[in-house]
Amino acid sequence: MCYNRGVEFIAHKGEDSVYKKFLIWPLIVVASLLPVGISQGASKTNITNVRVVTRNDADTPFVRTVLDVTGPVQPRFAIDKSGYNIVVTIPNTNLSRSINPRPQVNQNVISRLELGNKGPHAEVRIRVPKAVNTKDLKVFTLDGNARQKISNRVVIDVNDKSGKVQQWSHWHDSKDSISKPFSESIKKDFKGRKPFAGPGRGDMIWPVKGVITSPFGYRIHPIYGRQILHSGMDIGVDYGTPVKAAMGGVVVEADWISGYGNAVVIDHGNGMTTLYGHNERLNVITGQTVKQGDIIAYAGSTGNSTGPHVHFEIRVNGEAVDPALYL
Ligand SMILES: [Zn+2]
Repeated sequence: MCYNRGVEFIAHKGEDSVYKKFLIWPLIVVASLLPVGISQGASKTNITNVRVVTRNDADTPFVRTVLDVTGPVQPRFAIDKSGYNIVVTIPNTNLSRSINPRPQVNQNVISRLELGNKGPHAEVRIRVPKAVNTKDLKVFTLDGNARQKISNRVVIDVNDKSGKVQQWSHWHDSKDSISKPFSESIKKDFKGRKPFAGPGRGDMIWPVKGVITSPFGYRIHPIYGRQILHSGMDIGVDYGTPVKAAMGGVVVEADWISGYGNAVVIDHGNGMTTLYGHNERLNVITGQTVKQGDIIAYAGSTGNSTGPHVHFEIRVNGEAVDPALYL
């Protein structure tokens, strides 16, 4: 193969003298211009969409701003001198004109959210009560997935103004998992509860060791007064705790899932799947085969969560069941 290519090259080289005069010079001029044009166009990341998730009860007010960006970015944030403005700067990034620069927000938490361009950077300004400090803030990025048409994202979380964010006060907004935050009194019932071994078959292992901060099951919502299902079990752990596959199987989902944040779903066959939600980062990809105990993710607080924990869910033929029965 190499020999053939060499021959072709030599054969053409003999005819080059004509092209040199008429073709090569224009090419050099174009080539010298191109890198400038490319670098200016490609180096600037665009913000193409903004979503604001707000929580309207005053219990633990929360506002999450998600920016879709066209490439990886490194945002930084600070509270300005006045103490009233969180300023998130996204270097070398441009806010698309189609974006509403003043989206609606939850007035319990922040009074104004403004997006704009400042020189070469995009800037997000969030007006907050003075009591909000950097502990109430979390700014992080999420990788995109071109194949699944998921863009890179910047996430800006502003939590309750008291800064007393409770790790068990999370909720889910996906269609089939409608757990809502519990009242303080109900939360207390589960605070500090130790993991228990259910009357299980012993064929699953705990994905993490930790305290159950919210068990599976129906609860009467303290505000709405109706029964709602918490479709999994919440296990409180530190950021970065390795999350293990409860059972061997095939990863059928390893991506951002609305409400669950960075999540992994494993299909174990026989209609049984497990889900591990709110991870900081994932350690597997869709389609991968995993053994029981393999590290599939590292715990975090992504999705609708206000503190690090693993939301562990087991489904049998699509129906959520109590994980405690299988552990
Ligand atoms: Zn949960």
